[in-house]
Amino acid sequence: MPTIQLKNATKRYRSEHGQFEAVSGIDLTIRQGEFVFVVGSSGAGKSTLLQLIAGQIRADEGTVLLDGMNVAPFPLISAPRVRRNFGYVSQEPQLMRRRTVYENLSMIARVGGLTREKKLMERTVKALGIVGLGDVGGKYPGELSIGQARRVELARALVNSPPILVLDELTANLDEDNIWDMMHVLSELNRGGTTIIMATHASMFVNIMRRRVVTLVDGKIAGDVAGGRYGEIKERKSKYTLKH
Ligand code: ADP
Repeated sequence: MPTIQLKNATKRYRSEHGQFEAVSGIDLTIRQGEFVFVVGSSGAGKSTLLQLIAGQIRADEGTVLLDGMNVAPFPLISAPRVRRNFGYVSQEPQLMRRRTVYENLSMIARVGGLTREKKLMERTVKALGIVGLGDVGGKYPGELSIGQARRVELARALVNSPPILVLDELTANLDEDNIWDMMHVLSELNRGGTTIIMATHASMFVNIMRRRVVTLVDGKIAGDVAGGRYGEIKERKSKYTLKH
């Protein structure tokens, strides 16, 4: 059951004003089965933090560990381990527009090690069933509504049944009904033991769901509250503070 630990993790980028820290000195532990909302204003560092956790980028300082092992020491070498453990949905749509939904998903199942057509089909149908879209496999991404497309992105992340889902703004541009559907699916997955780490601006839903809420301000953790509210800033509980 993988535990994620960030120890003093810092990521820098260059801007026209020179280098700056997009996230800075992050200490954070997330245990298997947690449901964590990552919130903060635009530019606060949410995407960067999620990319660090999911091994998409490397920290310039500090470490990001999965069960005590570096998530991304050398990106290519760590890739199979990252693929096995993380389902990652980025802010940008990842579906290939000239491929059907089935083809988009089965490609990921193939990378996960499946080869037989029947198994690929089973996996894809199962993942689409989990997100409540069992009947869209033959469609092209352009034929889906925004809500359906985001749910297919989630299905794509689920195809290989990773223990951890890292979801960047999965609820962006969705109406309330679609956000409810999405939160329902995620709650069910979490009930089944999947870790959910999710950046969102959907404050109303964060406040209703009362899960762990990590709030970023200027690349630093300003709040980390179990059963918290959107943007709640509180003394971090010792349970979540790393001991050095
Ligand atoms: P959020 O997801 O909270 O909006 P981001 O993590 O996307 O925040 O961005 C944090 C800061 O880092 C912003 O100032 C953003 O412009 C900058 N940033 C993010 N990614 C890059 C990148 N690849 N190159 C340069 N700057 C970046």
